[in-house]
Amino acid sequence: MSSRKTTNLKSSLLFRLTVLYAATFTVLAAIGFTVFYYKIYSVTIERIDQDLFEETRRYAEIMAESGFAAVRLKISQEAKIEDADEEFLRAFKLNGETITSTDMTAWGDVDNRHIYEKLRNSESGYVSQTITLTGGDKARVMTAAIGPAILLQIGETLEEADEYLDIFRNLLAMLIATLIICSTAIGWYLARKSLVGMQEVTLAAEDITKGDYNRRVEVDGQLNEIRRLGGAFNTMLDRIQTLLESMQQINDNIAHDLRSPLARIRGIAEMTIVKDKSIEDFKEMAVSTIEECDTLMDMINTMLDITEIEAGVNEAKMEKFDLVELVSGACDLFRPIAESKKIRLQSNFPESLQLRSDRKRMQRIVTNLIENAIKYTSTDGSVTVSTEKEEGMVKIDIRDTGSGIAEGDLPYIFQRFYRCDQSRSKGGVGLGLSLVKAYTESMKGTVLVRSDLGRGSIFSLRFTP
Ligand code: ADP
Repeated sequence: MSSRKTTNLKSSLLFRLTVLYAATFTVLAAIGFTVFYYKIYSVTIERIDQDLFEETRRYAEIMAESGFAAVRLKISQEAKIEDADEEFLRAFKLNGETITSTDMTAWGDVDNRHIYEKLRNSESGYVSQTITLTGGDKARVMTAAIGPAILLQIGETLEEADEYLDIFRNLLAMLIATLIICSTAIGWYLARKSLVGMQEVTLAAEDITKGDYNRRVEVDGQLNEIRRLGGAFNTMLDRIQTLLESMQQINDNIAHDLRSPLARIRGIAEMTIVKDKSIEDFKEMAVSTIEECDTLMDMINTMLDITEIEAGVNEAKMEKFDLVELVSGACDLFRPIAESKKIRLQSNFPESLQLRSDRKRMQRIVTNLIENAIKYTSTDGSVTVSTEKEEGMVKIDIRDTGSGIAEGDLPYIFQRFYRCDQSRSKGGVGLGLSLVKAYTESMKGTVLVRSDLGRGSIFSLRFTP
């Protein structure tokens, strides 16, 4: 494998997670097995000690019953039966001086100095130790008193126990090797399974970079964390797409809707210059230019307002206020215009209605809707503004008996610059309802419209108090 491939592999999350999992599992298993092995080892040694101690007790009984001569006889009999390389017996005085023993040539110098002191301090009544013989084999040696001033030492090689422990050691080594292989395979499988979701996010990001803006991450069937990551990623993409679409729409708006007033301004100016005009005509041109500029500035400001709100730049400033006071103030503002058109402007409010909302935005929403209602209602019609609390929601209805909106136009009236055909003769640029919608949604409210062409419309706003 080339060094670049090795570096790539080492820095891959899949590789690292697999190694981490396998290493953790193997280390824990190795610790577990070591503890297990030492437990078995100590149980084996305990059993050997128990056997050796019982043997010293048998010699103590012989000593008590028949004296040391019988012990000496028994030791010499044992020497004939037992293999001197595997077991030794030695009786000695408290100062360590040997009285009798089996052939200890193979055992070398088994130290029994200070053994009496050790024995005196021992609670178990014996002293046992593991020694290493000249050939490297291990042996267990036990010393216990069998009479008032006589100690007996029995040594036994651990050859048999070692064989048995060796089987365990081999078995555990095989188990650890199997565990390393299995834990690597399981670790690789688990890491791959959890990274598949991340790979899906990466692939989606790559596709988007290539220009597939509608691409989304498939989150169904993924693990919780990946589902959340994919969900957040998709939400972010939706938001970016909305912003892109909104920018696209602004571009279109500039191309179509801002061009006309500019063309009009240019046309008036051109006409005035080309023809031989008086100073009065120039003044008229200046007035028209100012009016067109005002309309343009109004349009641009409203567009910026809508875009900022849709992009979440300007948060609503929520405060508690009396909605009745705000709506009746707006009605008072429009009463002179309504009267001049002989339109009855009626209101239907409770005493007061507290609402937590953005006061300024609410003011613009209500004035826009009342203004539209009056604008699209002809003489002798009526406009009714009512507010009430219904099913825990604050409701504002603006109802008119005006021109109404055709069913085919209803889905579009909240779009920027959309104007129904029959309204083209009336003043306006088609941004009022877009602003109403953007403001309402920024305050977590809803705006609905019901309309009957030729009979009138109802705009209903709903807010959580
Ligand atoms: P503008 O009033 O400036 O044209 P709006 O965004 O306020 O723009 O309204 C969009 C369109 O919806 C209007 O052009 C009009 O055709 C229709 N509309 C809005 N309100 C009413 C209403 N109360 N009655 C009839 N038509 C309406």
